[in-house]
Amino acid sequence: MYELFKSPAFDNAVTQFERACENLALDDWLRERLKAPQRTLIVNCPVRMDKGNIKVFTGYRVQHNLTLGPGKGGIRYHPDVDMGEVAALAMGMSWKCGLAELPFGGAKGGVSVDPLSLSLNELERLTRRYTAEILPIIGPNKDIPAPDMGTNPQIMAWMMDTYSMTEGYTIPEIVTGKPVIIGGSLGREEATGYGVAYIVDDALRHFEKIIQGKRVAIQGFGNVGTYTAQKLSDIGYTVVAVSDIYGGIYNPSGLPVQELLEIPRQKGQIQDLKEGDKITNADLLTIECDILIPAAIGRVITKENAHKLRCKMVVEAANGPTTTDADDILEERNIPVIPDVLANSGGLIVSYFEWVQGVQEYYWSKDRVISELQKRMHNGFNRVSNYAREKRVSLRMAALMLGIYQVAQAKQIRGLYP
Ligand code: GLU
Repeated sequence: MYELFKSPAFDNAVTQFERACENLALDDWLRERLKAPQRTLIVNCPVRMDKGNIKVFTGYRVQHNLTLGPGKGGIRYHPDVDMGEVAALAMGMSWKCGLAELPFGGAKGGVSVDPLSLSLNELERLTRRYTAEILPIIGPNKDIPAPDMGTNPQIMAWMMDTYSMTEGYTIPEIVTGKPVIIGGSLGREEATGYGVAYIVDDALRHFEKIIQGKRVAIQGFGNVGTYTAQKLSDIGYTVVAVSDIYGGIYNPSGLPVQELLEIPRQKGQIQDLKEGDKITNADLLTIECDILIPAAIGRVITKENAHKLRCKMVVEAANGPTTTDADDILEERNIPVIPDVLANSGGLIVSYFEWVQGVQEYYWSKDRVISELQKRMHNGFNRVSNYAREKRVSLRMAALMLGIYQVAQAKQIRGLYP
């Protein structure tokens, strides 16, 4: 059955899971059950292109586990999306929801497409058709999508509209990460990046003996990278390098963050900025800095480059940026890794707030959203770092153990049906 999901991303997720299970001494049947997704849907979406021809795009929605509540997780539009990757990401969402103690199961969706190659109209038609195809398994109490790489609030609005039109009335809580005017939460757009920044700050204090400086390098300048850079710069960090898909720039004495933030807004490229030396995405990972923040695709820190990293700490804003082999090398080198399930959980946490606001039809102030986010990120860091110390394991292992235990316990207590 694992053959179905076989891919580097899924293998990595399973290896991490099995390591955590060893430490938790989890029953065999629970391991078996939690290793594979509960439900997987593959859809093929015909889309009329602007020129009149029709193209078919393959999409997925994987519900890894629904024990703690409705599925929760983003929708990714990227050419490399395949079932194995979506399954790995869905599994990650289960542990992320468990660790954050949210009443959600883990899910993820995706379409194998380069969204930049589509016009806005094509993107809308694809999104509506994909939503219609996965409609039987999603719902505000069944499975709640959100943005991920390649998707955004506008795409969530189309999903929400398609679902609502089919049901016959407006159902904002079917997706999170939608525009505020149609029931989105204030602060959701900033949430993942701000959450990463709060974790960086907590981690810096925690590891003050090994990290003295505040120089940050960020790979990826989408939603997560930009808000991480903005918040970190606001609280006194120096951003020395950033990159987008075309490449990056580096300036050891710091980049002008305000100007950087304008680049994606103006649809420009990072290398248009002249205030630094041009570097590649691979170079960015090995430049000298205090904190390296991969905030783009998965599996960029591998056994090939892990021994070349010149940072003092890695904070995973992306999902799955470090392979298990690289993890071992970094642990040996005494470079702490703040794992994705903790570091980037701010988006998920504010998605939860958004869903609660939608269900209750009672909307919060931005101050309330941000201060509750901050509190939860801080508690999350403390729980993980205390558990790591107590069990003498890495932060990744501690975070996974806490997340998996939450799900496994609930599964065990609920028992089996039939
Ligand atoms: N795609 C984000 C993640 O990987 C957010 C998921 C959500 O808000 O449901 O955590």
